[in-house]
Amino acid sequence: MKKIILTLILLITSYNVVISQNKIYLKDTEMGKQKVNKSDEEWRNILSNEEYRVLRQKGTEYPHTGKYNLHFENGVYNCNGCKTPLFDSNQKFETDCGWPSFDKAIDGKIKYVEDYSHNMIRTEIVCVSCGGHLGHVFNDGPTETGLRYCVNSVSIDFKEDSDKK
Ligand SMILES: [Zn+2]
Repeated sequence: MKKIILTLILLITSYNVVISQNKIYLKDTEMGKQKVNKSDEEWRNILSNEEYRVLRQKGTEYPHTGKYNLHFENGVYNCNGCKTPLFDSNQKFETDCGWPSFDKAIDGKIKYVEDYSHNMIRTEIVCVSCGGHLGHVFNDGPTETGLRYCVNSVSIDFKEDSDKK
């Protein structure tokens, strides 16, 4: 009898583990749901070599070289891969770090991924719609959000908002 109870307990616990693992799995796939799914070849055809290196291979552009580093116009910065709006110009702030920096992103457009590469613990920021690499977010921002979204210029594409002028 004891054996049967023990087996039952074991069965129930292992069943629970399976259920919770399934939940985690579901959560992951839901979060990872991308609207834009292109093959590697398709991306290579659409993007320039530098855009492909940064967006699809998680590269980093050389500091102080990006076209939006010291760019302050009114408008929206879209994902350079799929054109999803990611940052508003009023979220951009001036910094000498060498890359376009924002203190906030447009709600729900960015996915956050733990990044342990290069012997650092960082949070990678990725476009939710196409999975394109944007840069990293740090908690040393100078504004009240305390955040610094450090973004590669080649990962974004600016569209001017003529109403704001
Ligand atoms: Zn995108």
